[in-house]
Amino acid sequence: MAFSNEQMERYSRHIILKEIGVKGQRRLLEGSALIIGAGGLGAPAALYLAAAGVGRIGVADADDVELSNLQRQVIHGTPDVGKPKVRSAMERMKAINPDVTVETYHTFVNAGNIMELISKYDFVIDGTDNFSAKFLINDACVIARKPFSHAGILRFNGQTMTYVPGAGPCYRCLFPSPPPPDAIPTCGQAGIVGAMGGVIGSLQAMEAIKYITNAGSLLTGSLLTYDALKMEFRGVRLSARRDCGVCGEHPSITAPADCAAPVCEGITA
Ligand code: ZN
Repeated sequence: MAFSNEQMERYSRHIILKEIGVKGQRRLLEGSALIIGAGGLGAPAALYLAAAGVGRIGVADADDVELSNLQRQVIHGTPDVGKPKVRSAMERMKAINPDVTVETYHTFVNAGNIMELISKYDFVIDGTDNFSAKFLINDACVIARKPFSHAGILRFNGQTMTYVPGAGPCYRCLFPSPPPPDAIPTCGQAGIVGAMGGVIGSLQAMEAIKYITNAGSLLTGSLLTYDALKMEFRGVRLSARRDCGVCGEHPSITAPADCAAPVCEGITA
């Protein structure tokens, strides 16, 4: 695929990087990513992946844009209130970069549809805000051997890690099962600074870009935590657990399942 003059200009800041170059930009244009959740994390991730020229980007979200979303979900604007988030996100992404194909899924991602959904993409970004979705995404990606970026944000804290098959632990190696309902508050209950999504969601976009272009090393085998009040980043080294229920030697979870608890709301911090 030869670049047009417009593409050479649009991607010139990537192309001059030795770690990306023409080859890496071509990989991005031929690459794909699925963003599950077009909220605080998914919004910046979607903006940066579209701007970077990731050729095919899926966005899955069942919700409509609400006024209280706009404090952090920067892909949506005031005139978008009431629209499906996936449509608002697609319009903004296409406005940034018409090179990009945006595939929208206006639906809840669940055990019945996740395997087919993730199978169409090179890399998955977990931009969800609740534990049931996080465990579902982890289990599906481990079973499908699909690399993905996990993240969570709450108040002034955030965390992220990347799973690549065979290269380190999965999310369930850290947390074997979801916490009890109501054990950890949601962003709606506890609050969140909007820029937290910008910091952590942008890190997730960076991981997708690095994975697709094969640049540098990924956040595998380590959980990165961010405390915005102290302005501290920490990397906690982690190992895969041999007795992990999904990625261990004798997995008990062999198919994704929806959370059994009636309420699994909450967010990791
Ligand atoms: Zn595991």
